[in-house]
Amino acid sequence: MKKIAIIGGGAAGLMAAISAAQSDRSSSVTVIERNSRPARKVMITGKGRCNVTNNCNNETLIANIPKNGKFLYSAFSEFGSADVMSFFEECGVSLKTERGNRVFPVSDRAVDIVDALVDKAKKSGVNFAQGRATKILSSNNKVFGVKLENGMSISADSVILSTGGMSYPLTGSTGDGYEMAKELGHTVNEIYPSLVPLVCHEGFCSALSGLALKNITASFFEEGKKKPIYSEQGELLFTHFGISGPLTLSASAHLRYMNKKSYYLLIDLKPALSIEQLDKRLLRDFSAELNKDLKNSLDALLPKSLIPIVIKLSGVDGNIKVNQITKEQRNSIISVIKGLKLHIIGTRPIEEAIITGGGISVKEIEPNTMMSKIVSGLYFAGEIIDVDAYTGGFNLQIAFSTGFVAGKNSVNKE
Ligand SMILES: Cc1cc2nc3c(=O)[nH]c(=O)nc-3n(C[C@H](O)[C@H](O)[C@H](O)COP(=O)(O)OP(=O)(O)OC[C@H]3O[C@@H](n4cnc5c(N)ncnc54)[C@H](O)[C@@H]3O)c2cc1C
Repeated sequence: MKKIAIIGGGAAGLMAAISAAQSDRSSSVTVIERNSRPARKVMITGKGRCNVTNNCNNETLIANIPKNGKFLYSAFSEFGSADVMSFFEECGVSLKTERGNRVFPVSDRAVDIVDALVDKAKKSGVNFAQGRATKILSSNNKVFGVKLENGMSISADSVILSTGGMSYPLTGSTGDGYEMAKELGHTVNEIYPSLVPLVCHEGFCSALSGLALKNITASFFEEGKKKPIYSEQGELLFTHFGISGPLTLSASAHLRYMNKKSYYLLIDLKPALSIEQLDKRLLRDFSAELNKDLKNSLDALLPKSLIPIVIKLSGVDGNIKVNQITKEQRNSIISVIKGLKLHIIGTRPIEEAIITGGGISVKEIEPNTMMSKIVSGLYFAGEIIDVDAYTGGFNLQIAFSTGFVAGKNSVNKE
């Protein structure tokens, strides 16, 4: 009887356990989870609704993984998004596909996804051991068990390390797995927050805190480069420290060298209007009430809290009557509306990131089995691996695909 120990009962660990138990009914599969309830992070995914995958083909999955996406090609071919959807539907969780092909349970309850995983694991004969794993036991470069903080040891022929990353540590993911892997000789590439709100230099962000700009275009640049690194139309939220919201989170995945490079963004507040159209629009608004002050004449065009900031940045006096505004002054206003500049000076801490970038080097993992190339019997699954994706269900898909492959191979391989 083959014994499999899985460290971490999150999305990847639970799927690995199910896959291992179902691939070999005679195996003994144990999930070691430090929390009393598994998959606490999954409970908060998708704002409690759990965007469980993205309804798309493998090429699209890979295109949405800016770092090491190709490493996942075999795992997606073996267990892609259609497989994840069938898995949950077969578990009795009805799914729906929303905007951007994001898949959610019809119930809009992440707990249904967690319950389905736990029930399926239990029905497949998986054992659960509550405790914090501290060390993977090995000799002659072959694993033989896992040591827990309480002094207990669990013997194992294969160990799957699926402890997640370091973000949202209250859910249990505190980065323990990195240390355990390092001790066995694995390389852990630099850890950094990804899908994370951004801190901006401009003090006016704090004054705008709470303002959500819908349908703007934000283009993110590296200082000195002409081509944007990332440009997207969508929603951007001002916070007391800078910016957040879906567009910001996705952009953050591209700003990987925050300590080495300088980045800024330009917000086009009116992407649907060309410069000429915007000029005509301003002239029309101004001509409606010629004696109004500039500061009182932009209400139809911009959110109220943004008006004094746009005026100040344009350098035009807000108390000027609109009938006195020159073409040059209009151009200054237009250039701020079409390119409101914010300098990014950092990210929020990793604890606030949706995803942890960096992790176990993919060069040291076999892509078709998720097995370590360094230690026999060791496997990796989920966010601990140095891959990370955009929002849209792609990160859970990574956890499920790598978990499935690691689980299946952990029972089949020596
Ligand atoms: C707020 C938020 C919202 C998100 N929403 C989405 C979404 O809608 N869609 C999406 O695709 N992705 C989403 N993600 C990302 C997604 O949750 C993760 O990518 C995914 O959970 C990673 O799965 P994992 O199993 O690798 O790690 P985790 O889910 O973090 O699980 C790791 C498990 O290991 C346990 N563990 C850690 N160390 C030890 C130890 N030493 N001993 C025993 N157990 C240990 C932890 O307690 C935890 O249960 C979201 C993330 C956050 C923070």
